[in-house]
Amino acid sequence: MSQVQPQGQTKKLRQPIVVVLGHVDHGKTSLLDKIRSTAIAAREAGGITQHIGASIVPSAVIEKISEPLKKIVPIKLAIPGLLFIDTPGHELFSNLRKRGGSIADFAILVIDVTKGLQDQTFEAIDLLKSRKVPFLIAANKIDRLPGWESNPDQPFVVSYQNQSRRAKEELERVIYGIIVTKFSELGFQTELYTKIKDFTKTVAIVPVSAKTGEGIPDLLAVLAGLTQQYLKNRLIFAEGPAKGSVLEVKEAEGLGTVIDTIIYDGIIRVGDIIVLNGKNGPIITNVRSLLMPAPLSDLRAKGTRFVNVSEVYAAAGVRIAAPDLENALAGSSIYVANSVEEANELSKTLQSEVKELIFKADKD
Ligand code: GDP
Repeated sequence: MSQVQPQGQTKKLRQPIVVVLGHVDHGKTSLLDKIRSTAIAAREAGGITQHIGASIVPSAVIEKISEPLKKIVPIKLAIPGLLFIDTPGHELFSNLRKRGGSIADFAILVIDVTKGLQDQTFEAIDLLKSRKVPFLIAANKIDRLPGWESNPDQPFVVSYQNQSRRAKEELERVIYGIIVTKFSELGFQTELYTKIKDFTKTVAIVPVSAKTGEGIPDLLAVLAGLTQQYLKNRLIFAEGPAKGSVLEVKEAEGLGTVIDTIIYDGIIRVGDIIVLNGKNGPIITNVRSLLMPAPLSDLRAKGTRFVNVSEVYAAAGVRIAAPDLENALAGSSIYVANSVEEANELSKTLQSEVKELIFKADKD
């Protein structure tokens, strides 16, 4: 069996977990695709690592992509990379719950600059507020601003310098006339990221194009810089038993019911006792196998292929096969327990979450 080693094992921080939210058609899926393809193109620096339901962009790749921005954003990274949840949207975000908050460390709120804030933008802001998840604003589709001349894959700051006065004015009109104004009505101070002095008080706006790749270097650099600077305590990796969240419960051929999970702390191994919520109360079972997508080079065959691994370190997305998962609930917390006694204790703490999950499962 192969092992999934933590990237940057000597570093004590794990990858921040990043989600993408925003109104339908504002470009969430395209933005995630562009981040992935930009990272894959930097394969000599490490490319991306595909997980279950998530992709990791390693810090060496972020440093390489954001190299032209050195002077504006510090790019010596202490985090080992960024873990992006692959499926954008509010439904999935709600399955990343953790008591009193979210296992998502940071969010990208995508706003189409040709549309401004729309219904689901406001819903996303409310969700982020209630789960206390910090975020930045990706002001997307800048290539569609009147007069904008695209500079594919360039940092926003470089592309901006090449724009006509008209295009610059159009961008300012959207950023200040719409985004900053609307957010201030909602009680948030927002500003173009290059002009922010105190990132703890101001939400950063990063102009991007998911189509041309403009602004992707800025986006990655700001995400990495902000998370490692302001969320350090959350990101300290603990060697102990894993904690995570169940993203999806599904049937897998030959394996029966499996759970796709995001692990945000600790280590999970084959044979470990796990505790999670089920429709009829907490489930205590043992990990039969841990599955990860086969490396990209092996993906020529149709569909995702999987490899068995013996252990997985946070942060990670992993598929777990185990007995008795038929009634498992998406959105449940999942914990590794050191003993049956500990598992029983943990199952008590899980009881408090179960009512909310069943209510949600009935609605779905
Ligand atoms: P989602 O519903 O938020 O995931 O939005 P999608 O990623 O599916 O994008 C909606 C539409 O906008 C698609 O037709 C995309 O090709 C297009 N789109 C997304 N980002 C950009 C962009 O930066 N520039 C342009 N011109 N089109 C974009």
